[in-house]
Amino acid sequence: MKSVGMGEQSSYDHILTAEYASLLAMEFNRNPVVDDEAAFDIYPPPPSADRSSLPLRPPIVTIMGHVDHGKTTLLDTLRSSSVAKGEAGGITQHIGAFSVPTPNSSTGGQRMITFLDTPGHAAFSAMRARGASVTDIVVLVVAADDGIMPQTREVLELVRKDSNRVGLVIAINKVDKPGVDVSKLEKALLAEGVQLETFGGDIPVVHVSGLTGQGLPELVETISAVAEMQDIRAEETGSIQGYVLESKVDKGLGPVATVLVVRGTLTPGTTLISGLAHGKVRLIKSSLGQSLKSILPGTAALVSGWKELPSAGDEVLQGAEGDIKRALSNRHRKADIEATIQDAEAINESRRAERLLQQKEAEAEKEGIPMEKEYKKDDKKELRLVIKGDVSGTVEAVAGAVQGIGNHLAGVKVVAQGVGEVNESDVMRAKAVDGVVVAFSVNISRPIKNLANTQGVKILESNIIYRLMDEVKAGVIELIPPII
Ligand code: GDP
Repeated sequence: MKSVGMGEQSSYDHILTAEYASLLAMEFNRNPVVDDEAAFDIYPPPPSADRSSLPLRPPIVTIMGHVDHGKTTLLDTLRSSSVAKGEAGGITQHIGAFSVPTPNSSTGGQRMITFLDTPGHAAFSAMRARGASVTDIVVLVVAADDGIMPQTREVLELVRKDSNRVGLVIAINKVDKPGVDVSKLEKALLAEGVQLETFGGDIPVVHVSGLTGQGLPELVETISAVAEMQDIRAEETGSIQGYVLESKVDKGLGPVATVLVVRGTLTPGTTLISGLAHGKVRLIKSSLGQSLKSILPGTAALVSGWKELPSAGDEVLQGAEGDIKRALSNRHRKADIEATIQDAEAINESRRAERLLQQKEAEAEKEGIPMEKEYKKDDKKELRLVIKGDVSGTVEAVAGAVQGIGNHLAGVKVVAQGVGEVNESDVMRAKAVDGVVVAFSVNISRPIKNLANTQGVKILESNIIYRLMDEVKAGVIELIPPII
């Protein structure tokens, strides 16, 4: 948001602060009435009318596909090849995204490609759903030895829904394996309605091996060709718009977030708002740990200077300090109202369910039918969880993934979730609700383990999400009363 000094001429693209607009109205002898609800939030910059004159930006690419088809391996190989080509040659940190140079960079074409490496596992669908809205191109990985699987179809469905905006590249993976039949898989894809280039269609297909690196230069080249056709451009000047990919509390830097910029150039000193978090950009760091002077559209980097921890998936916008303060208090007020409405709805819902149950029981009694006990609301068992994870994206993904576990007899309830190591208050909170602690990719110190033992609180821990899910499932199954 740009503020304009009195007496200065304002052009049509200035957004006026409420104060300035009021002063202006008073200059014309009018009595201004400020609608503070609308005035106290910050909105994304309006889209530029003529996009063709804007600079090209790197395409944002998400790798998707069925579990075990090789997404992680492919991303790891792509990431390490980008390090080898980079100047630092250091160890990359997982920050949620990385960029690789393209072969066209010398000819002035698309110079970089940005890969989102938020885990592509089905359990991370919460994050993926958010990731997809910023994705320009989806690379669908299909393992040559396994073929089309349920999640392959899910991705195709997702891309089809958004096909005028999102490009698709098929990567047939694991071609290093002996005896794999690539042409059979291509025919099967065609039968699914994927118009592959091999058969005269317009969907490019590349044969790769994430394990050996075979075909990866062709994959990068193909992505870059698709991006060039999409003509992906963005304003490098003006207000920032971006998204938080991941966030965590760093011991030295405090709250940090990986910000993917889609408009504007993010530089230190910029005041930002994201959800209920705000801050002034202090340091910008690449995945190689190098300090950067800016983040251009289509790239992501780690940003410090946040007063609170932003949440993965939230939009990041720029504003003047005062405007951000007002927007924050407005957002807090809205969040409070929403929470109150949700509470009220939950109370209403449970009253309605109670009434319905009573009604059914009365009817059953009248007709002399014994009510089946298991349909009583109070009999539904709950496995109460306190979830801790390494970054906010994974915490949300774990919370999202466990929600679906259970049936009408037993289910899961997330009572608390947060980023960071498991601490005393997590254990005590779990004890208070007779629940368990779920720890994803975080450290559990010896004293905390001892505390959990003495308090009789179970801690389910793993760095592998499906193992955690299995343990949660096992916990829920234990709750189901035996059939007598
Ligand atoms: P994801 O679940 O899709 O992320 O799959 P992973 O990357 O974890 O890979 C699943 C398994 O397939 C692992 O055992 C990998 O080593 C193996 N794998 C992945 N890519 C390849 C490949 O190109 N060739 C072969 N032979 N194995 C692969």
